[in-house]
Amino acid sequence: MLDRRAFLKVAGGFVAGLSCVAGAASVPQIRRHVVIVGAGIAGLAAARKLIEAGCEVLVVEARERIGGRIFTAKSWADAPMDMGASWIHGTRGNPISSLAREAGARVVTTSYDNSVCYDTDGKALDEAGETRMEQLEKMLNRCLRTAQEEENDQSIQAATSTLLNAGGPAPGERKELEFLLNSTIEQEYGGGIAELSVQWYDDDASFPGGDALFPDGYQAIPDFLARGVTVALGETVKRVEWNSRQAVVTTGKALHSADCVLITLPLGVLKNGGVVFAPGLPEHKCRAISALGMGTLNKCFLRFPSVFWPATVDWLEYIPEDRGRWTEWVNFSQVCGKPVLLGFNAADFGREIESWSDRDIVADAMKSLRAIFGRQIPDPSDFQITRWASDPFALGSYSFNALGSNPGMRDDLAKPVDRRIFFAGEATNRRYFGTVHGAYFSGIRAAGEILADS
Ligand SMILES: Cc1cc2nc3c(=O)[nH]c(=O)nc-3n(C[C@H](O)[C@H](O)[C@H](O)COP(=O)(O)OP(=O)(O)OC[C@H]3O[C@@H](n4cnc5c(N)ncnc54)[C@H](O)[C@@H]3O)c2cc1C
Repeated sequence: MLDRRAFLKVAGGFVAGLSCVAGAASVPQIRRHVVIVGAGIAGLAAARKLIEAGCEVLVVEARERIGGRIFTAKSWADAPMDMGASWIHGTRGNPISSLAREAGARVVTTSYDNSVCYDTDGKALDEAGETRMEQLEKMLNRCLRTAQEEENDQSIQAATSTLLNAGGPAPGERKELEFLLNSTIEQEYGGGIAELSVQWYDDDASFPGGDALFPDGYQAIPDFLARGVTVALGETVKRVEWNSRQAVVTTGKALHSADCVLITLPLGVLKNGGVVFAPGLPEHKCRAISALGMGTLNKCFLRFPSVFWPATVDWLEYIPEDRGRWTEWVNFSQVCGKPVLLGFNAADFGREIESWSDRDIVADAMKSLRAIFGRQIPDPSDFQITRWASDPFALGSYSFNALGSNPGMRDDLAKPVDRRIFFAGEATNRRYFGTVHGAYFSGIRAAGEILADS
């Protein structure tokens, strides 16, 4: 553990070093020394912009890899799989589309319209079933819009309780409404309906142009952004300290001093309080950290000996007995040419199964798939499972607007402190939270703030 005396010594050394560099006529002037905490998309986007503008930048990253919540696992040599983000959501005008082109990364489009929905018994919905679902979705949306007009905020669960319970739908339709709540809201925002604010849960924006994913892995984007960026891997930041002259970041291995620090820690990590800020964060920022929600979305990739599902469909949906249990599957054979299915679990159930063994998770997934495709389907030959809520450097998948929060809190989260500590990361983006492009924009915004201040 590095002590306070060591901090002062290193910090003093840095100031001397800085004045020396600035004073030497033959050395190009460094605009600012910046330490960035976190080598996710926000940190890397900021690093690139700051370096281009003549700053000296060090990115400090706890993991032994870059990318954060973008992570392409190479466990299957012939089929890279994204454990975190998969899609460019809305390809038109999205900066990630441009980056993909610059990086020469292949993308493949998928469509929610290319889907089959199966009822609890595993029967694909016929036309009448599809029409009923559309009507229920309209009913649900009407109910949510009405609740958004009300003065007092409430959870989505409270706002839909009448619809779901007394005077609500027929018993079969309740299951379908629960399915819609999970597939259209919980899976998208990561929060449970009991946690999500009905007024603000969907207060975000999107790009047009459909969705596209990376058959060779999303990792191409952070790898591209990281070119020429110095990243200290395997250094977990414990403390961020500042005064009127400088800032110092303490990791388990070193002290890094700078003119300013950009924090891109995930909201889950900020909530957990494992990183100490001294002299302390302002009240409005602490309130935002505590009130905004950190959601869960987990993935389970199952690899089979052969494809036994509709081979040309993108999405397979299932209306389970219990809300949120294996409702959404993606046919990855379309993407990678291998017999792989990806199952998603979000919010409460997504969090619950993180404590289960891999074996139990796969067995539960297979129960759902067998309800749809029959007992004869083979067991998977391999699997890959994520546990984002238990990941100490994420502590959740992405942020959501929880009951008790409001969108202005994201602006509070983004605000610099004492013009020395700056903030980025998906949770700081009021318009595009929970996405890669939202995190990217936040990094660009924070880099702009640092440059404007120098
Ligand atoms: C399962 C899943 C699916 C998703 N799907 C999509 C999708 O399809 N499309 C989309 O647009 N978005 C998706 N997202 C969201 C997207 O991945 C994130 O919004 C985005 O990657 C966040 O980037 P960031 O830079 O804000 O944070 P991060 O990528 O989390 O970067 C923060 C970095 O800080 C590091 N860190 C944490 N603690 C410390 C510490 N103490 N010291 C030093 N470093 C530390 C972390 O290791 C990490 O590298 C998904 C996320 C998940 C989890």
